[in-house]
Amino acid sequence: MSNLLPDNERILLGPGPSLTSPRVMRAMAAPTISHLDPQMMALLDDIRARLTRLFHAPDGSFALAVSGTGTSGMETAVANLVREGTRALVVVSGYFGDRLAQMCERYGATVTRLDVEWGRACDPDALRAALKASPADIVAMVHAETSTGVLNPIDALAPIAREHGALTIVDAVTSFGGHPLDVAAWGVDACYSCTQKCLGAPSGLAPVVFGPRALERRVKCRSFYFDLQLLEDYWLKRKYHHTMSSALVYALDEALAIVEEEGLEARWARHERNHDEFAKRLAAIGLSLLPPTGERLWTLNAVRVPDGVDEAAVRTHLLDEFGIEIGAGLGPLAGKIWRVGLMGASSTPRLIVLLLGALESALARQGHRVHG
Ligand code: PLP
Repeated sequence: MSNLLPDNERILLGPGPSLTSPRVMRAMAAPTISHLDPQMMALLDDIRARLTRLFHAPDGSFALAVSGTGTSGMETAVANLVREGTRALVVVSGYFGDRLAQMCERYGATVTRLDVEWGRACDPDALRAALKASPADIVAMVHAETSTGVLNPIDALAPIAREHGALTIVDAVTSFGGHPLDVAAWGVDACYSCTQKCLGAPSGLAPVVFGPRALERRVKCRSFYFDLQLLEDYWLKRKYHHTMSSALVYALDEALAIVEEEGLEARWARHERNHDEFAKRLAAIGLSLLPPTGERLWTLNAVRVPDGVDEAAVRTHLLDEFGIEIGAGLGPLAGKIWRVGLMGASSTPRLIVLLLGALESALARQGHRVHG
């Protein structure tokens, strides 16, 4: 037996992965089956149906889970909708918007970036003005920007893109299962997520949905692995494309079953309630969140590091003394924020109390008085 396997309990409260539900852990222990086994095909059909419902996808959509992490979902959306010369307008309000812009460039798009201050949401008027100045075939944007803790108003942005004749690609990696998301009502054309955040499974698959307009306007895909046509042949016509992991399929199917049992609206409400509770208790010990009220994610909290506090030492203390993981800031926010994820099975009042107690202890270690 490998002596490197962790046998300690990590309390995952960072930007992802979040905790895996015990039911999902058990599901993964079911016997391995092949990627073409009739039982596997029944599972894939079930996942397709559940994802179509949970994304609120319109009739004529194709929902599937791509083998790979959230980035593979991003690449599947881009690789099938962007070709040499595609005009892509990308909303860049953080690290993952920037990744989306890079991905579009790699697939040959002429990219116009709509840069938004890190820590703020994209103003719909800014998108309108940008599209007037630079007409686009595709508008790509991140719903929940994990690097800043900000929610972009896709319900307002996607219809503007559509009015201007552009297809929309939406990154829902940190929102799917935690925040309201309505692909049909908002007119989103392609949307992707991951398994390891609000769904409560380990990383390894990326839920993706293409709406009817996106399916019509797909391009010849340069990637073999992410080619939608080949993936459709596997998911719908049972033709071999790659050896999909049965353990990850069990995990996702069970995770989606749990989401549907809880109810999507109830799950969103749980994420909102726990975020509100965390923000209130945080304020009570004199700490604050980076984004303004109304632009904050419920799933990922960007907590400002108080002046004079060594942010890395706090994270080390939480991990060493309490087994709690939280995340550091990225890019311009490195050293300035902690990123606290309250997603899926990690979004509970019990863990909020535990984290805040541990945080007080870590700050006290540095001589920082928490009660104002
Ligand atoms: N998009 C967003 C908004 C993310 O937060 C992440 C990861 O945290 C990704 C994309 C990439 O996902 P992954 O790390 O699973 O490839």
